[in-house]
Amino acid sequence: MEKKNNLILEAYQRLLGKQTINSLRKKAIKFEQKTVLHINSTKFGGGVAEILNNMIPMMRELKIDAEWKVFTAPKSFFEISKKMHNALQGNMSINFSEDEISAFLEQAKSTYEQIHPNSDFVIIHDPQPSPVIEFAHERRGKWIWRCHIDTSDPNPQAWNLVSRYFPNYDALIFTKVEYAKPGINNLIYPIPPSIDPFSEKNKKLDKETANEIVKKFVPLDRPLITQVSRFDPWKDPLGVIDVFRKVREKIPVRLALIGSLAHDDPEGIEFLEKVKNYASNDPEIHILTNLDGVADLEVNAFQQVSDIILQKSLREGFGLTIAEALWKNTPVIGGNVGGIKLQIENGVNGFLVNSIDETVDRILYILANPKIAKEMGKKGREKIKNEFLLIHHLEKYLDLFRILSN
Ligand code: UDP
Repeated sequence: MEKKNNLILEAYQRLLGKQTINSLRKKAIKFEQKTVLHINSTKFGGGVAEILNNMIPMMRELKIDAEWKVFTAPKSFFEISKKMHNALQGNMSINFSEDEISAFLEQAKSTYEQIHPNSDFVIIHDPQPSPVIEFAHERRGKWIWRCHIDTSDPNPQAWNLVSRYFPNYDALIFTKVEYAKPGINNLIYPIPPSIDPFSEKNKKLDKETANEIVKKFVPLDRPLITQVSRFDPWKDPLGVIDVFRKVREKIPVRLALIGSLAHDDPEGIEFLEKVKNYASNDPEIHILTNLDGVADLEVNAFQQVSDIILQKSLREGFGLTIAEALWKNTPVIGGNVGGIKLQIENGVNGFLVNSIDETVDRILYILANPKIAKEMGKKGREKIKNEFLLIHHLEKYLDLFRILSN
């Protein structure tokens, strides 16, 4: 029984050695039986759900009493919160009406009433529920706001709406310190996200199995370029199609655009239609979603089998998809923005690009130089192994808990 309870930690021990695990266990002792509550807006789709799904069981293995609760809200709220997401990532033309602001605050009240957070550590993920703290009049534990997006150049109205609640929090976590605008007096703690190397998404698949899975969706008769992302303008799938068309003028290739439709992303379906129209039934562009049966295992196989993974984002808080692909030794070409720059060292474990033409050049280079591509992939895996696995992420949370407990 004891053994079964430590499956995750044992797997990490085999991967990283005893010392790393012992250091984590030591840090966790102080928080055994402490309650930790994560709150966000969706159980499915996007990076936050991905991380929480994997983090809760690991916290529990360390005997921390971790829980994850999702609040419910009407569809109209998710339209406002998506607008908020876009505005915080830098869309300056967005403006919130008085009604929208009231709906945003009303929902925070409802979220508080649905969940009644009362744990030793309450972690509020993303802007959607940031004002919930306003309703927690008698706070017992420490409250932390965890921002997952790139807020380095936010729409001022949106930033004011969210940041006015910051003084109530005990700490704010940003993926990079640069995402926090000057003028914040809270403790700012940088923690990058992470991937779970043992999950269905990231576990090792043998080559034949991975090929078979991908072949159900896309013929493997020529080099395959893939982008895995929500259908969202910031991920620039239309730019990816432009890139693909230019590459195909030079060599035969296929493109897979894989995107899940997140429950809290009402723009997704609409934007998917736009992407499909832009691809205009091109037989070499394969647009796939969770509704086609592309779930974690399939994403895993695509990330492993593809010759190149693209993440041509125009803004990106972190980009788990990059870590996932690098972990599988696959070369990645990513937009030269935000959290992508934390993961890709240009020319070493992938390429950072600023334009369509640059992306085309790098793709042609990687396809023409398989040995270099392999070397880059290997370095990519090392980078993720050393910095961006869930165990590192969890350790940083424990460090923050310790700071807040002193
Ligand atoms: N994802 C998925 N299926 C898809 C598209 C995305 O499982 O069709 C996953 C992807 O593998 C990654 C997460 O959703 O784990 C996206 O996280 P990321 O940080 O890249 O972007 P976000 O969606 O949070 O902006």
